[in-house]
Amino acid sequence: MESINNLLRQIPKVDELLSHAMLARFDRDVLLTKSVREVLNDLRRNIIDGRVGTIPGHDVLAGEVEAKYFECFNSNLRRVINGTGIILHTNLGRAPLANEALDAMCYAARDYSNLEYCVEKGERSSRHVHVEGLITELTGAEAAMVVNNNAAAVMLALAAVGQKDVIVSRGELVEIGGSFRVPDVMAQSGCRLVEVGTTNKTNIRDYERAVEPGLTGALLRVHASNFAMTGFVAKPELCELAGIAAKYSVPLIEDLGSGCILPLTQYGIYGQPVVADSIKAGVDIVTFSGDKLLGGPQAGIIAGRGEWIAKMKAHPLARAVRIDKLCLAALEATLRLYLDPDTVVESIPVLRMLCMPPEKLLKKAELLKGYLDKYCEVTVITETSLAGGGAMPEEGIATAAVAINMASKGVSVQALERHFRLGPVPIIGRISRDRFILDVRTIDSSDFFDIARRLQEF
Ligand SMILES: *Cc1c(COP(=O)(O)O)cnc(C)c1O
Repeated sequence: MESINNLLRQIPKVDELLSHAMLARFDRDVLLTKSVREVLNDLRRNIIDGRVGTIPGHDVLAGEVEAKYFECFNSNLRRVINGTGIILHTNLGRAPLANEALDAMCYAARDYSNLEYCVEKGERSSRHVHVEGLITELTGAEAAMVVNNNAAAVMLALAAVGQKDVIVSRGELVEIGGSFRVPDVMAQSGCRLVEVGTTNKTNIRDYERAVEPGLTGALLRVHASNFAMTGFVAKPELCELAGIAAKYSVPLIEDLGSGCILPLTQYGIYGQPVVADSIKAGVDIVTFSGDKLLGGPQAGIIAGRGEWIAKMKAHPLARAVRIDKLCLAALEATLRLYLDPDTVVESIPVLRMLCMPPEKLLKKAELLKGYLDKYCEVTVITETSLAGGGAMPEEGIATAAVAINMASKGVSVQALERHFRLGPVPIIGRISRDRFILDVRTIDSSDFFDIARRLQEF
C-alpha cells in the first residue's frame, strides 16, 4: 500500500491522458478536455478518501474518459423501453405517436407554416381551424377548439362561465393526479363550487334543487377516470342532466378525461365513454385529452356548442393555454387517421397495443423468450395489464409477459430490475410475486434485441 501523497504524485497530467492513443480518434475539443479533468478529479478524490490503492493503467483511465465524453452527448430526456404493459403511462410520456403524426410534427418544426395565416385570403387566421372541422366531423359537435392539455380545457371552460356557481356531484370531486383536484381547479377558475348529493349516490333532483337562477353558471360532470365505485351507487343519465341545464339555460360541461373517438367495445374494451355519445346526449361543452386513448400528442380538446366555443376562443386565458404548433400538427395528423375506421386501430400505436388479441400477444412473448432464454431461465406467463392514463381504472386486460429468473446465479429480483433500468436504454419492467416481468403489449419487437443485449451484459 503506497502512501496517499505518493499516489497523488503519480496521477497523470491532463495532456498526458489527452494524447493517449485511445483518445486520438476524438477531436481535442473542450468536451474531451473536460472529460479528462473529471476523470482525474474523481481519481484524486478516491485516493484521498482511501478508496484507491494503486493508480489504474492509462488505458483504463482513457476508457473512463471515453465513457464520460459520450455521456456529454446523452440528453436527459431519452428513449426508454416500456415493459410495464401500461399503455398510457404518464411518467413514461403517455401515447407514442403514429408515423403520420411524427412526419407532420417534423414539417411543422422545420419549415414555416400557415399556422395562423389564411393562404387564400392572404390574411391572419386562427390556429384552431386546422382541426376544428375534423373534431366536429368525428364527434358531431357544432364547434371545437384545442388547448395545451385537458386540465387547461376544464379550466378554460369554467373561466368562460364567469365567476358563477357550478354544480358538481360529491361523487365527482376527484383528484386526477398531481395537483389536478376538481375543487382546486374550480377555485382557480373563479367559479364557486356547489356540491350536491353524496359520495355514492346523486340523483337528478339533487341537481335541480341546487339550481338558483341568476347565480348558477353551469352543471359539471367529471368522468371517474382513475377509480371505480361499485355497489350502492347511482347518478343521473347525461340526457337528464342536459335536460336540467337546458331548462335553466346554463351549460352542461363534461370533463371526459380520456374520451374515445371510436367505440372500442368491438375489441373487448368496455366502459370507455365515447365523445359523440356525450354530444348526442346534449352536453354543451365536452373536454378530453389528446394523449390518452385518442393516441395523439399532449392536447386538450374542447367540443360543443358554437356560442360557448366562441366565448372560450375569445377568453384571455385562451392565449395562456394555447396549443403549440408541433402538437397541433401531430393532433391534426392523428385525427385524420380516424377518418378511416378500417385502418385506424392499426395505424395509431395506442389503439394497436390496446386491441392486440391475446393469441398475438402470446406469440410475441414466445418470440421475446427465444431472444433471452440462452442467458437464463425465462417463462412466458399470462397476466392482467392496465391501460393507464386514467383510462380503465378497474378492468384489466389479459396480456402476455416474460418472467426472467436469475436466482440460480444468485441474482435477486431487485438486482435484475435495477440492471435493466440502468442500461444505456432504460428497460422498465415490474416485479410481481418475486419475479421480474416484462409485458410484451407495450414493447415493440424491434426492441427485443436491446433487451437481449442488456441481459447478456449481466
Ligand atoms: C387525465 C384527466 C385530466 C387531465 O388531463 P391532462 O390532459 O393530463 O391535462 C382531467 N380530467 C380527467 C377526468 C382526466 O382523466
